Amino acid sequence: MARPRSTGMSTIAPLWSTTGAPKDLQLRCRCGHVRGVANNVAPHAGFRFVCYCQDCQAFARFLDRPDVLDAAGGTDIFHMPMGRVKLTAGTDAVRCLQFSSRVFRWYTDCCRTPIANTAGPRFPVVGPIHSFMSRCPCRAYSRRVSAPPFQACRE
Ligand SMILES: [Zn+2]
Ligand SMILES: [Zn+2]
Repeated sequence: MARPRSTGMSTIAPLWSTTGAPKDLQLRCRCGHVRGVANNVAPHAGFRFVCYCQDCQAFARFLDRPDVLDAAGGTDIFHMPMGRVKLTAGTDAVRCLQFSSRVFRWYTDCCRTPIANTAGPRFPVVGPIHSFMSRCPCRAYSRRVSAPPFQACRE
């Protein structure tokens, strides 16, 4: 499948209709081994969250991926219902770690891409991290909806 290389807005825009109708968003790790899809992604169907907590920063350090963090050390996450996110390939390379008992942090072993955070079965929400999204919807969101400035994890 041909994929656009530019990250300009004109490339991102086609992921989103002008009406904000939900779109399926391809998910992939940096090397492409682990892939998935997030269904029905739309600004109104999830919650963008830039987390500045210590554990998110430790996660990026653990993976040796400082590029995942923004200039202020934040991790850009889009929370959505668990059932909307599905891995379709490369699940053998998926790993999980925990810095605290409440948050499961998923990443790929192939190229150390942070995938998502989850909070366990009692809280069926998944928070894919922008590094795992083929084209970052966060950039589009910041144009379309007012993202919360930042909020800390409740860890
Ligand atoms: Zn990979
Ligand atoms: Zn955090």
